[in-house]
Amino acid sequence: WEDQFLPTPLRLDDKIRTQKIESRLQALVLCGGVLRRVGDVFEAELERGLREQPSSLQMENTYVPELPDGTEEGVFLALDLGGTNFRVLLLELRAGQLVRQHVKQYHINNALRLGTGDELFNFLADCVQDFVHELGMEDQEFSLGFTFSFPMKQHSISSGELITWTKSFKCSGLEGVDVAALLERCLRARRLRITVRVLLNDTTGTLVAGAHIDPNVGIGVILGTGSNGCYMERASRVQHWEAAHERVQDVCVDVEWGAFGDNGCLDFFRTEFDKEVDANSLLATSFTFEKYIGGKYLGSLLSAALGALARDQLFPAEPEPDQLQTAHLSLFEEENCAGEVAQTLRVLREVCPGAALTAHDALVAQHVAHLISNRAAQLVSVCIATLLRRMRRPHVAVAVDGSVYKHHPRIAGLMDKYITLLAPDHSFSLLGAEDGSGKGSALTAAIAARIAARDAA
Ligand code: BGC
Ligand code: MG
Repeated sequence: WEDQFLPTPLRLDDKIRTQKIESRLQALVLCGGVLRRVGDVFEAELERGLREQPSSLQMENTYVPELPDGTEEGVFLALDLGGTNFRVLLLELRAGQLVRQHVKQYHINNALRLGTGDELFNFLADCVQDFVHELGMEDQEFSLGFTFSFPMKQHSISSGELITWTKSFKCSGLEGVDVAALLERCLRARRLRITVRVLLNDTTGTLVAGAHIDPNVGIGVILGTGSNGCYMERASRVQHWEAAHERVQDVCVDVEWGAFGDNGCLDFFRTEFDKEVDANSLLATSFTFEKYIGGKYLGSLLSAALGALARDQLFPAEPEPDQLQTAHLSLFEEENCAGEVAQTLRVLREVCPGAALTAHDALVAQHVAHLISNRAAQLVSVCIATLLRRMRRPHVAVAVDGSVYKHHPRIAGLMDKYITLLAPDHSFSLLGAEDGSGKGSALTAAIAARIAARDAA
């Protein structure tokens, strides 16, 4: 069992260099026992989060009590905010099927991501206005689903306060502010007749979009720039309810595992490379777990580890700061799988200008990329395996979306393997779910409308 967690070993002709490199990077290798311990800590933190006791896991009640049943109807606007591109969508659902879709992307520049919250939200409202104007629908009434991929304290299915920014956003003055209400105010100021019906996280959107394809879906995961998961929990186990929930059996809980370990409970496997990446990040000391997994950080980890090898004369040069991206890590992994080095060498020559690089150096870089990928796959698998054990259903499909999941050549396979090892008695499948932030948002708005109609009857 233990051996199956080991990454593929490095094989260079030079045995001594191989040994030195492996021992220099040893801290990135997690054995099965350590992963079990991470799982135990995750479960304990999760329990405390649900009970509203101090925990690094938010375990937020999303107030989404049911999944699509094929009756979803209507025309909805959906907004997707989380990365550098903001998307506005118009979606039409008929009998649960998506029959029409318009999408437009708007770039959010650095100044907006790091400016004031008011500027950002006025910009979002301007984009919505531009979008409905182009469609000639400025006077129409709309229900809107707002996918806001940041940690929130939710008060209802359609309201919630930003807890803290993550990834590449750091706008001032928005923490503790109800982002749905703020958005609505900005839309009203532009005379748009748009109501925010649901405020949701991208993981919830992914869960809902996944459940639309496969009714066994019970967990939603994002493995993209950031990382997070949500799952259907028994309502009675969730402490935080601001509305009666007598008739609700289950509810979607947003774990916010990106912040797992922010209270120090995972320091036992934190490496010097992680500390370096964290110190250089936009939001240092926050969202530590996300920095082991998210696409925003994997390239920086690769750089940090190669830099350490270079300082020990085990690699020809330190990569220039910020030059290695997660896309490069994926490329190295792809070539590693294929037994090639040409592309890896080309990239290394770009990021280490002037260094004399050999095919062996390319193998070393590929090995580092593999160790980092393997650890990321293991850590996200620990979380999923823990949720599976908790849910005790005969079979759970896990809806997954995000750039790392989609573009990394072996992350999906590794996750499959590690979840199986960590939750051997639980049947599961990984399901790629496209566009939870758009389609999932509209579906959730339709679910909210259905529930409201039922409550009114
Ligand atoms: C956010 C989550 C989000 C995840 C994936 C994290 O940084 O806190 O809310 O689900 O990124 O986008
Ligand atoms: Mg909580």
